[in-house]
Amino acid sequence: MTSHPTDRRMAALRARMKATGTELLALSPGPHMDWLLGFHPHPDERPCLLLITDAAAAWLMPALNAEGMREKTDLPFHPWSDADGPDAALAAALGAVGAADARHVALDEAMRADFALLLLDALPGARHSFTAPTLGALRMVKDDAEIAALRDSAALADAAMQALLAAARPGISEAALAEVARSHFIDAGAAPSFWIVGAGGNGAFPHHQAGQRLLERGDAVVVDIGAVKDGFPSDITRMFAVGTPPEGYAEVHAVAEAAVQAAMQAARPGVRARDVDAAARGVIADAGYGQYFVHRTGHGIGIEGHEPPWITSTSDTVLEEGMTFSIEPGIYLPGRFGIRLEEIVVLRADGPEVLSSLPRDLVVVDG
Ligand code: ZN
Ligand code: ZN
Repeated sequence: MTSHPTDRRMAALRARMKATGTELLALSPGPHMDWLLGFHPHPDERPCLLLITDAAAAWLMPALNAEGMREKTDLPFHPWSDADGPDAALAAALGAVGAADARHVALDEAMRADFALLLLDALPGARHSFTAPTLGALRMVKDDAEIAALRDSAALADAAMQALLAAARPGISEAALAEVARSHFIDAGAAPSFWIVGAGGNGAFPHHQAGQRLLERGDAVVVDIGAVKDGFPSDITRMFAVGTPPEGYAEVHAVAEAAVQAAMQAARPGVRARDVDAAARGVIADAGYGQYFVHRTGHGIGIEGHEPPWITSTSDTVLEEGMTFSIEPGIYLPGRFGIRLEEIVVLRADGPEVLSSLPRDLVVVDG
């Protein structure tokens, strides 16, 4: 992909490496590589590493993948065959990037343990860390193209949610409703990632799988769907009721909505992620439902559907303009119903911009 901002990202990465004393950064095929290069080689059990130092970068590459990768990258290859194994090629690659005596190596968090140990065994004097202060920190802040892609993906999720709501009626199963959203995503060229439809008491399980339960009048229903479109995910949760919602529902919905708004008010550049979580959690606790909010307030979203920053009660991550994350407080009342309202936001200088254009009000179907 010629338009991928590899050069700019590589320069920013090297500046971070310098600032953090990271002499070598090692990536394996996965999301970090996608962010940096716009592609990754076939991931399998054969060690494949991209080694980056201040001065150079090189691949440790399984020989059988080398030909296919030549057209995508002009960084030098150190290929190894199944017959020879990777040790000599790795030593050559480390020498080529000037990292044979590296004392601080940063590892891709998603690297296989056997790749990581192969590398660390080849660098007996090195201390290791992960990429959070370098590549991880850069990846959390999205550029305009990434935000545009997330916006497109969110618009498709809105449309899939509306299609699902239009099909909701008494007697249809959770699974059949989930299929409506899945089909909408697939018809638009997206790959569905998850399709939670939890009716009545099932909604009290935050990750309930859509099953054969039929919708009944009086059910409150949690719908949480997402799909990957053009490499970027969506994630949205809305609530509907079949006819009159259950006893006590309106009050709990109002508490969840107030929690969303409190988190939105708290989310500003310079604020810690834990303070956003505390804002949502405080509203729910003050209303007496604290023990029923059983998960974090949100998660980052970008190349991956769940990625940093984590909006948790313990996260000291300082939020920055351009970060994208979910705000999704929930209240789960066992045996009765669950409620979750989820927005994906882009943090702007003056606060969060919500990507969805759907209201968070309870939708009542077939009243
Ligand atoms: Zn979700
Ligand atoms: Zn989410």
